[in-house]
Amino acid sequence: MNVLIFLGPAGSGKGTQAQFLKDKLNYEHLSTGDLLRAEIKSNSDLGQQVQSVIHSGNLVSDDIILNIIKKNINGLKSSNKSGVIFDGFPRTIEQANSLGSLMNEMDLNLSKVLYFDLSLEESINRISGRLIDSRNNNVYHKISNPAPTEAEPYLISRKDDTPDKVTHRYNVYKNETAPLLDYYQSELFRIDCLQSIDAISNQITDLVDSFELSH
Ligand code: AMP
Repeated sequence: MNVLIFLGPAGSGKGTQAQFLKDKLNYEHLSTGDLLRAEIKSNSDLGQQVQSVIHSGNLVSDDIILNIIKKNINGLKSSNKSGVIFDGFPRTIEQANSLGSLMNEMDLNLSKVLYFDLSLEESINRISGRLIDSRNNNVYHKISNPAPTEAEPYLISRKDDTPDKVTHRYNVYKNETAPLLDYYQSELFRIDCLQSIDAISNQITDLVDSFELSH
């Protein structure tokens, strides 16, 4: 089973690409942000606990994140999926160490870490037009990637997608998550996020084909 990690700031297109790949390549998509927002939506204890942290743009504690990953990773190996995409996880060195141990226990190998490279300016630009389909978390953009008409009644904006929160999240990303670029330097593949959605999707598909063929 292939393991991909999607790393990059808000608005870099990780979710958009994951949503294509999971169907195209039969991959499981695990987004810690989506899982946490589902907890908030269902008003669970965990949801109530993390709500204010998420809305402030800070990171949720490593313990909480690892628990949620463990809960969702069980059964992955026995599923019919060809691989898994971790989207927005790990976000700290501590999380990366824990993921390493977890993969050892499950006998999984890291295939690639895709680094979605985007400037702060462009991050703000993109997030300000972002819309989410509340039924399935599909991600759209008012101008560059409009939602289909039938999805329009279900589109929502995230509370942490305001320009000041995006700036804060970008700084958190630089301080806490960017050190993972060194940590994963031997598995790293940089994506230039200024390319079109299709061009990036093809680039990732070619990459996945190349390592699936070599196995
Ligand atoms: P995202 O949807 O990936 O932009 O995540 C939204 C928010 O959820 C983040 O700003 C954090 O508050 C929280 N979050 C998601 N993934 C993680 C993670 N791996 N570690 C800590 N906090 C996370």
